Amino acid sequence: MVAMRDGIEVVTEVRAELGEGPVWDVRSSRLAWVDITTQRIHLTDVATGSTETIEVPLHVGAVAPRAAGGFVAALQDGFWVVGDGPARQIAAVSEARPGLRFNDGKCDPAGRFWAGTMTYDAALGAGALYRLDPDGQARMVLDEVTISNGLAWSLDGGTMYFIDTPTQRVDAFSFDGVTGEIGDRRPEIHLPPEAGAPDGMTIDAEGGLWIALWGGAAVHRYLDGRLDQVIELPVSQPTSCCFGGASLDELYVTSAREGLSAPRLRAEPLAGALFRVRPGVRGLAPAVFADA
Ligand code: CA
Repeated sequence: MVAMRDGIEVVTEVRAELGEGPVWDVRSSRLAWVDITTQRIHLTDVATGSTETIEVPLHVGAVAPRAAGGFVAALQDGFWVVGDGPARQIAAVSEARPGLRFNDGKCDPAGRFWAGTMTYDAALGAGALYRLDPDGQARMVLDEVTISNGLAWSLDGGTMYFIDTPTQRVDAFSFDGVTGEIGDRRPEIHLPPEAGAPDGMTIDAEGGLWIALWGGAAVHRYLDGRLDQVIELPVSQPTSCCFGGASLDELYVTSAREGLSAPRLRAEPLAGALFRVRPGVRGLAPAVFADA
């Protein structure tokens, strides 16, 4: 097991309240990420740290590049297109209500956009996982979710990994890449509570799963179900991670200031920063939302 603490860089001066959902945008060679509660989508030039910000009208849980231009985003009331003309809703979610918002989301290898919900008070089982298909139809695919978080697909495309944070698990679903249907669910990884709460997730080109640990000040890599590498961070609340850079050999990690006391914030002035580390393994080019 490799532990890495040095070599952590801060990418931009931007600090997020609840930074989340990083995704590499191959078209622009920028990193897209969100600040959920301040309703911002940040597009960061990772070479200079220069950041363009798109303000959106509702809390934004996740974003993904869209083949037809701009981005698809999971806003509080459903799925929107942003950054390509005026922001507009393309699919409502009928369960949307005050007190509920979208959280993490990502495209599957065929370009469907998946995103899940949670209530602000993380009520048990009150959220769900949705799939937005390229034809613009959104459907609920899993209910009784509490804090819908990390998503990843196996290298062979036959498995979807999913984190509902309070379970302290990564679960694996059988996945049909042709239809987008998920099937049998089984626990894949159990994360000990003392390691923190499993949050966002990505997969590397060797099939390793990288899991951000909220409250754990670290990102953990699991390979074949076993802890393989630990990246320690100078913040207690890392939220999610993705690979990026021209060679996809850089791991970007978002973090949050949310909920930290004033003394705690003085102790971790980088809370909310976007970090970069080169972990010695490459990631995969992210799928884009395929509604071209
Ligand atoms: Ca998250």
